Amino acid sequence: MKEFKVTPIRNGTVIDHIECGMALKVLRIIGVSGTNVQSPISVLMHVPSKKTEFKDVLKVEDRELDPREVDKIALISPRATINIIRDFNVAEKYTVKLPEVVRGIVRCGNPNCITNLKEPVEPEFVVEARNPPTLRCIYCDRILEDTAEHII
Ligand code: ZN
Repeated sequence: MKEFKVTPIRNGTVIDHIECGMALKVLRIIGVSGTNVQSPISVLMHVPSKKTEFKDVLKVEDRELDPREVDKIALISPRATINIIRDFNVAEKYTVKLPEVVRGIVRCGNPNCITNLKEPVEPEFVVEARNPPTLRCIYCDRILEDTAEHII
């Protein structure tokens, strides 16, 4: 299989090992919707990968991610790696990892849950497993399904 070469960037973030097919959802998580792009973004989908056969990769120039965005990426791509590039060098590299409890990044799937009613209660989940991510609502005890669809 031909090695896929990615042009280096000077500053920004490379999100590697995104689950195949999830690149566009990751773009949405980091707030890129098409008309608000301020700097170059490369989207690579279905490229060969040593680890998983195929993967998606995003290169976002002149932008670093905040921890909430990284946690959201972990929800849909638990094996993703974040590479922070500064002056063409990898300044930091780590695999995303969900904390034991997530707050305010996903909505509960139960319409009767207190977090979905008028009360100003922030949704909160216990992370019971990381790959695939399994989240249990601390208020109604329900396990979240279709996690990607419930990201805030
Ligand atoms: Zn709930």
